[in-house]
Amino acid sequence: MASGSAMRSSHRPDRQNSSAPPSSTSRHVGPPPHISVRSKVPSSRRSVTPTSRARACDDNDPEPGRVRVAVRLRPRNAEDLVSDADFGDFVELQPEMKRLKLRKNNWSSDSYRFDEVFTESASQKRIYEVVAKPVVESVLNGYNGTVMAYGQTGTGKTYTLGKLGKHDASERGIMVRALEDIIANISPASDSVEISYLQLYMESVQDFLAPEKINIPIVEDPKSGEVSVPGAAVVRMQNLDHFLELLQIGEANRHAANTKLNTESSRSHAILMVYVRRSSPEKEDNDLSFLGKESRSVSPAGHGMPTVRKSKLLIVDLAGSERLDKSGSEGHMAEEAKFINLSLTSLGKCINALAENSPHIPTRDSKLTRLLRDSFGGSARTSLIITVGPSSRHHAETTSTMMFGQRAMKVVNMVKLKEEFDYESLCRKLENQVDHLNAEIDRQQKSRENDQIAMDKKLGECQNSFAEAEKSLVARSE
Ligand code: ADP
Ligand code: MG
Repeated sequence: MASGSAMRSSHRPDRQNSSAPPSSTSRHVGPPPHISVRSKVPSSRRSVTPTSRARACDDNDPEPGRVRVAVRLRPRNAEDLVSDADFGDFVELQPEMKRLKLRKNNWSSDSYRFDEVFTESASQKRIYEVVAKPVVESVLNGYNGTVMAYGQTGTGKTYTLGKLGKHDASERGIMVRALEDIIANISPASDSVEISYLQLYMESVQDFLAPEKINIPIVEDPKSGEVSVPGAAVVRMQNLDHFLELLQIGEANRHAANTKLNTESSRSHAILMVYVRRSSPEKEDNDLSFLGKESRSVSPAGHGMPTVRKSKLLIVDLAGSERLDKSGSEGHMAEEAKFINLSLTSLGKCINALAENSPHIPTRDSKLTRLLRDSFGGSARTSLIITVGPSSRHHAETTSTMMFGQRAMKVVNMVKLKEEFDYESLCRKLENQVDHLNAEIDRQQKSRENDQIAMDKKLGECQNSFAEAEKSLVARSE
């Protein structure tokens, strides 16, 4: 989430639709299907880190990338079946037209268009492939990425993102599938994958992997704008089983923390952070000739220097969105309601401000918006999945979820490659080279010393034989 002009949404052709609520019958809300967002924004509005500044004119300029939004309908549960038995469908899906309709009465409905519309029978695999895989591929290629779920409690956010699928792998959610893909695609010798797993509850960042850590500070690099949580445990991933184990530990800690605090997980945000570090392919030899030869390029940066791509994937399971409207009125303790709402309310405000190209984006108002600074209006590729239930009992919540999704579709990020010179690797190479040269000097020194000894020996022998010759000559002449 960006503040200031550098990362605001760029001009889009659909602005006239921007935030009008759906009021008329079968009115289409949202951008047209073939929205074009390829236009470059003026260079003064790009986010430029010191690294990218050092490489002006290469092919690493930020590109506009609109936030993609999909909607998923949860299958009817027992409660829905009982309460809606006498009614027709409240939610009507037209996946081929990427449209969802909410019935208002027998004659009219509100219609919303999204990037994808998933019916209640959509598989976890398909959701992953359409919603998350493009983001995961981007992360593997060195871009930051975010996959986030938003919706009322009980509509399937955790099912979509966090389902472990212990007994049935086909049920696995986005977190497990994303890590499976990442681990399968990196090279263990030169790359690494690390994770942190956090909960944000009442404006306090807690660590699912180290539950004794509460209230961990969020740190922003004033130069690059990068947001990090350096106090959180970071665990290097070995393989998928290791990740499943950690997710399970996280789940147990999430449960324990919520029991202790007398709350439910639906009131907290869960954030999985995946750090991917990939080195550019290195030449096997030890030569450093690239140092003086810019034309011998081995990296996309156009330099012969080794580079490293450090990207971050965020998978965000938000608190139930119904709290936005209800927590105050349902008699929750005032303090709790204030904090539960603070993060989600300010996320909504930031997304509205970005969608409307407002000059001020209130990123700093909550911890969630600070953590998501790069995900909305920043440099990440972002996919949002909004989840809804089929029941007309939740008309108000479902409509407000639709509106959130529609506004998020108007946010355009400036996606940017997270590549830097790999000074560590360069340093290692230089140290190797210095070691090699020192060894060579030692070897030559030794061989010179040996030569010297041999020559001294020869000289000694010569002097001896000369002295002997002299002696015998003297003796003979006497
Ligand atoms: P949320 O995280 O939004 O509060 P959950 O993911 O916990 O909601 O889902 C609520 C219940 O509905 C869970 O029992 C879950 O297994 C079930 N559920 C949600 N989505 C689906 C789905 N697409 N298919 C089958 N069951 C689902
Ligand atoms: Mg949940």
